[in-house]
Amino acid sequence: MSPRPLLADAARRLAEAGVESPRVDAELLLAHVLDVPRARLLTLDDVPDGAAARFTALLDQRAARVPLQHLTGRAPFRHLQLAVGPGVFVPRPETEQLVEWALVCLADVPEPDVVDLGSGSGAIALSIAAEHPGARVTAVERDPGAIEWTRHNAALRSAAGDRPVTVLAGDMTDPALLTDLDGTVDLVVSNPPYVPDGARVPREVADHDPPLALWGGPDGLDVVRGLLRTAARLLRPGGALGIEHADQQGGALPALVRSAGGWTDVADHPDLAGRPRFTTARRAAGPAGGD
Ligand code: GLN
Repeated sequence: MSPRPLLADAARRLAEAGVESPRVDAELLLAHVLDVPRARLLTLDDVPDGAAARFTALLDQRAARVPLQHLTGRAPFRHLQLAVGPGVFVPRPETEQLVEWALVCLADVPEPDVVDLGSGSGAIALSIAAEHPGARVTAVERDPGAIEWTRHNAALRSAAGDRPVTVLAGDMTDPALLTDLDGTVDLVVSNPPYVPDGARVPREVADHDPPLALWGGPDGLDVVRGLLRTAARLLRPGGALGIEHADQQGGALPALVRSAGGWTDVADHPDLAGRPRFTTARRAAGPAGGD
């Protein structure tokens, strides 16, 4: 079969099903089936019947709004290709900026201790380990389904030669979490569940991302309140905190950090699309932290 009409038809189908980027998704699925880079599709003359049939089967699932990354089995994130599938939150490009900020923070620390709270696929933790060779990273995940993916990706990365990340089953709001690290951690980073209950999310998200990774109570900040207490306890004086948040929380989250007390340099940062995306702060030096 000729790839051009096949792709045109596929993109039309996905558009009709309400998929946000129909042409790109069709191309990525065909490239996946043929096991070639997407750019290679331009010079392709023929799609064998077997491959065309597999492509159509994947299109059916994508049209039913199964996430693209579940169909290809992987999600690109910074320099990594993470394994993803049912049970784990698909990492998003906007979170790459949070990692960028984290690496800048850690640039002058040769062997920083880093904790990623709510690690999911391990995108943040494993990127920091890949891009800062001295970092000692602990990835915490509470969801028993998701942590299988954290462990799997961590094993793949350490087999590829990155410094191993410690994966720990635990709840980021638990006062007993990682108490052996109290007051010593250089950076706490998190993409916590922050979607306000009842908010509208795309079908791919509602039906396939794990609820524990998404929903954050009436204002979306329920889990973040507990996370702030954990971060306050773990960080050394001057240690840094970075928390991703929803578009509408660019005022509320910095305000929450300021009102908790014991933090300095509270700031909010936009993502590449210019939307408020993450809040950062430093743990105050000195004894009267008062959280
Ligand atoms: N940004 C995610 C979304 O698009 C939500 C992520 C989260 O709650 N951490 O739904």
